[in-house]
Amino acid sequence: MILITGGAGYIGSHTVINFINAGYDIVVFDNLENGHIETIETLQKIGNIKFEKGDLRNIEDIEKVFNKYKIDAVIHFAAFALVGESVTNPGKYYRNNAFGTLNLLDTMVKHGVKKIVFSSTCATYGEPKYTPIDEKHPQSPINPYGTSKLMVEMMMKEYDIAYGLKSIKLRYFNVAGCDSLSRVGEWHEPETHLIPNILKSTFGEGKTFKIFGNDYDTPDGTCIRDYVNVEDLAQAHRLALEYLNRENKSDVFNLGTEKGDSVKNVFDSCEKVLGQKIPVEVVERRAGDPAKLYADANKAKTVLGWKPAKTLENSIASAYEWEKTLSKR
Ligand code: UDP
Repeated sequence: MILITGGAGYIGSHTVINFINAGYDIVVFDNLENGHIETIETLQKIGNIKFEKGDLRNIEDIEKVFNKYKIDAVIHFAAFALVGESVTNPGKYYRNNAFGTLNLLDTMVKHGVKKIVFSSTCATYGEPKYTPIDEKHPQSPINPYGTSKLMVEMMMKEYDIAYGLKSIKLRYFNVAGCDSLSRVGEWHEPETHLIPNILKSTFGEGKTFKIFGNDYDTPDGTCIRDYVNVEDLAQAHRLALEYLNRENKSDVFNLGTEKGDSVKNVFDSCEKVLGQKIPVEVVERRAGDPAKLYADANKAKTVLGWKPAKTLENSIASAYEWEKTLSKR
């Protein structure tokens, strides 16, 4: 049985679907603080998954799951992921993302479970010293969110040395798009991410999409990011687990398309995919946004055999279908 923490969330739920399709038995563990019970109900219609509500900050909650099921490996998503909030409320991030994961690792050790795939982030690199960013780029996070994820990477390295617990750390760049059948999708409250915010401004209510700064040192002045499709990302988790099963070796991989798209670029693509004009204005820069971030993901391709297949336009189209579903809820 595979334990997927945070399986009611955005990337987690897409990964659950990927694992269901591959025939795995799955138990999802989620505190439903940001995840949604409706997502769990949808996943339970797609496959025969178990759900356990609980919080990693309470070690008894996770202990119960390991007592109840025979867990073979863990895919670990459960975390808070808002950079801005992590700056104003760092304790929440260290308590949940770092201490919560420590509880998970200790429980794994106690029950002899020795494989984990971890949802890390390019935020562990901090301000880029060069692009594209490869896995050897120095890690120097500039906010508590990134630091909390880096702390987990370090714990995992040391739990491997001490207990032989093998981990694959996947450092994601920007994640985009939704399930091709619109069953699950990106559902954050509040929504802060680029593509859903552009799309939401097409649903009336006089909303105007805001570009956060057009005076960056990039060709069109807006920030450049690497938007990797969520279904491609989900597939990488399965390849990572298969790699762990095969090689029994800890490692780290960047996941991105290796293609930088500017905010303006993404906005233009949204107008093109939707075939309509979207209201837009340029406002002040958002604090803490580096000008340019994109991945060198060659290692994931060559070592894991990962083949990201979806384009930015695919991600926008699936995200739009999902937004339409969401707007009716
Ligand atoms: N962005 C924007 N308007 C928005 C949301 C985001 O201009 O309403 C920009 C943001 O400044 C960044 C890029 O889009 O340059 C991607 O931001 P997002 O929050 O999606 O992801 P991040 O890169 O912060 O992880």
